[in-house]
Amino acid sequence: MEEKIKALQDKLNRYNYEYHVLDAPSVPDSEYDKLLHELIELETAHPEFKTDTSPTVRVGGAVLDRFRKVQHDTPMLSLGNAFDEDSLRAFDKRVKEAVGGVEYMCELKIDGLAVSLKYENGRFVQGATRGDGTVGEDITANLKTIRAIPLELTSPLSFEVRGEAYMPKPAFEKLNEAREAKGEALFQNPRNAAAGSLRQLDPKLAGKRNLSIFLYSVNDLSGLSAKTQDEALKRLDEEGFKTNRERRLVDDIEGVLDYVAYWSNRRNDLDYDIEGVLDYVAYWSNRRNDLDYDIDGIVIKVNALNAQEQLGFTAKSPRWAIAYKFPAEEVVTDLLDIELTV
Ligand code: NAD
Repeated sequence: MEEKIKALQDKLNRYNYEYHVLDAPSVPDSEYDKLLHELIELETAHPEFKTDTSPTVRVGGAVLDRFRKVQHDTPMLSLGNAFDEDSLRAFDKRVKEAVGGVEYMCELKIDGLAVSLKYENGRFVQGATRGDGTVGEDITANLKTIRAIPLELTSPLSFEVRGEAYMPKPAFEKLNEAREAKGEALFQNPRNAAAGSLRQLDPKLAGKRNLSIFLYSVNDLSGLSAKTQDEALKRLDEEGFKTNRERRLVDDIEGVLDYVAYWSNRRNDLDYDIEGVLDYVAYWSNRRNDLDYDIDGIVIKVNALNAQEQLGFTAKSPRWAIAYKFPAEEVVTDLLDIELTV
């Protein structure tokens, strides 16, 4: 059994390297997810063979030496995954057991590259990749070429925001057409193209790639005075950031609770809205191809930040959020991103 687990760990570490460092995966995400799931089950049954370098506890990939390294103030983590309704219901149950009923913010899971943006007194001063979660790469110059990133905010805030940089599909198609005409290797998908572009040494090249970004979290909320994910996103909108407008807050329970104050001592008995989450998931599962950016799932987050705090984190991911992953529909070809090998 030890050998089997070790072989799976090695294989998944190699896939992680190809995906996160080279931006050139050799297997579809569904294959990676399946093997990871298998490894989680084996390690749960045989915890003595779980190591601290196992892909089940590690986030992302190694950091490229060509960029200055950036230590994250708080780790940039992964998300727990759900592939079906049962695991979403199990997530809801865990949340309810820990903090009672909550509202959920449903967001699209943008398929791009996670980045961190730091602002000092309202000015953009540093941008980094997630890297291995603890240390990322300084890609400030490349990120400055993304027009959707405000270089100056409405208020003189000092904080860090996180989001997903991506390549819109039309930009991706144009880029690959141009590369084909020049006989250059094609990018596999918009995610790889965005990741490859942001890890170019020459910002002029990144600037030509028409990248965009959606911001979805704030590291230090004190300056924003937000109490929920919903409020935090609205404040980001006000400061000039681009957030994804397709999000949906499910259940209007706060308003209901205000109105029916006498219910307040019974709030944990109420049946809060996992049904709303399932509706949202079903809707976007069918509509993902209508968007001009790629999504690979839905992220469900406990809305109230104090409940998020109570729920906390595992070593790899927050307990207050989960990513529902769409079933696979991609086909991986043997095309390679050659740009990173120069
Ligand atoms: P993840 O993609 O499952 O979830 C975490 C990431 O979701 C965050 O880092 C963030 O970048 C992103 N995200 C997008 N929209 C978000 C939103 N609205 N709110 C919060 N986060 C949002 O986990 P991961 O650790 O980044 O990577 C695992 C993924 O990479 C899986 O999809 C896996 O299939 C794929 N992968 C594939 C291979 C391969 O060889 N094909 C190898 C490694 C990983």
